[in-house]
Amino acid sequence: MKAITKSSKLDNVCYDIRGQVAAEAKRLEDEGHKILKLNIGNPAPFGFEAPDDILKDVIHNLPSSQGYAESKGIYSARVAVMQYFQQQGIKDVGVEDIFIGNGVSELIVMAMQGLLNNGDEVLIPAPDYPLWTAAVSLSSGTPVHYQCDDENLWYPNLVDMEAKITKRTKAIVLINPNNPTGAVYPEEILQGIIALARKHDLIILSDEIYDKILFDQAKHIPTASLAQDVLIITMGGLSKNYRIAGFRAGWMVISGPKIHAEDYLEGLTMLSSMRLCANVPCQHAIQTALGGYQSINELIEGDGRLLKQRNVAAKMINDIDGLSCHPAMGALYLFVKVDNKKFTIYNDEKMILDLLKQEKILLVHGRAFNIKEHNYFRLVFLPHVDELIPALEKLKSFFASYKQV
Ligand code: PLP
Repeated sequence: MKAITKSSKLDNVCYDIRGQVAAEAKRLEDEGHKILKLNIGNPAPFGFEAPDDILKDVIHNLPSSQGYAESKGIYSARVAVMQYFQQQGIKDVGVEDIFIGNGVSELIVMAMQGLLNNGDEVLIPAPDYPLWTAAVSLSSGTPVHYQCDDENLWYPNLVDMEAKITKRTKAIVLINPNNPTGAVYPEEILQGIIALARKHDLIILSDEIYDKILFDQAKHIPTASLAQDVLIITMGGLSKNYRIAGFRAGWMVISGPKIHAEDYLEGLTMLSSMRLCANVPCQHAIQTALGGYQSINELIEGDGRLLKQRNVAAKMINDIDGLSCHPAMGALYLFVKVDNKKFTIYNDEKMILDLLKQEKILLVHGRAFNIKEHNYFRLVFLPHVDELIPALEKLKSFFASYKQV
């Protein structure tokens, strides 16, 4: 029988967060080992439960959610997202400018499929959340990575960004608060990106899924609140802020001069109709979440659990000889630098695999986030401190004697 091969559309598509090392972790688990998974930003398994009101609302609406809904999303959810945006000073958004999806993931792919022709270029941060790069490649576009600088709190390097704009560039992606670096961008960086989009007639895609997970008085500024004359597509959702990643509820909001983008918006509407609609019961969670009391504050302020974990993780990492990181100002991750003079890491994936085999801790290697350097990894600080501390002690003992051969 002839071998069945994957489509050539997948040739350049790469999504390593759930890649080879995660597969090895699964194999070890099947053998009976307990693996501490610090590889995925999935709050629920670490005991971060969704607010009660959200669960009640979904249960309450279950019987009436049996049919397909409108493709762009149920009305109450879209109104709630619209009001959420209006409250943040983004006035030019109506219900028709909002698409609800099965998580932001689905909408990222949809946004790119609707936008790109063969070889169109999209500027994406390096490091990035790799779905962005994968979605551009899957949509026959060319991802072009702009540098974010470790020495400058991982802010985007605007000089590098502009140098990479060509006649084929269609859009700039930014992730703020950032996965994997934890950076939260100040207004001047956002204004700089907007100025480039304005000058070169580009769309901005702003991934703001972590907009409420902020530490140490960091302030999140929605990109769309800074410009009404640039087409901005803002992505957000319930997976992280409301700890319900499994519900798959996200949104995409179009703001700015929509009149110039009618054709693209028609394309997006068609793509959303082709998949009929997003998961209906969980769309009901959106109104309850956005309308209600913001329970995330208890986790990130004062002696909030997530803040404590982030503080402990950042301090312990920086106390390990040869490791360093910026304490995340937002999101759920530390992006850790391994001193290459001390360790000479030539293969970061091997480093993470060696750690997994020796200490049964699962992390993600830096190149999974589309950087070239081999001396970074990402760590999720979701476990309780009494699980996090022993894990970081194991990390310390691993690096005390680690040598790549
Ligand atoms: N965008 C970023 C920056 C993320 O980190 C993630 C998930 O980790 C997503 C999007 C996908 O989110 P969703 O669960 O809404 O698909």
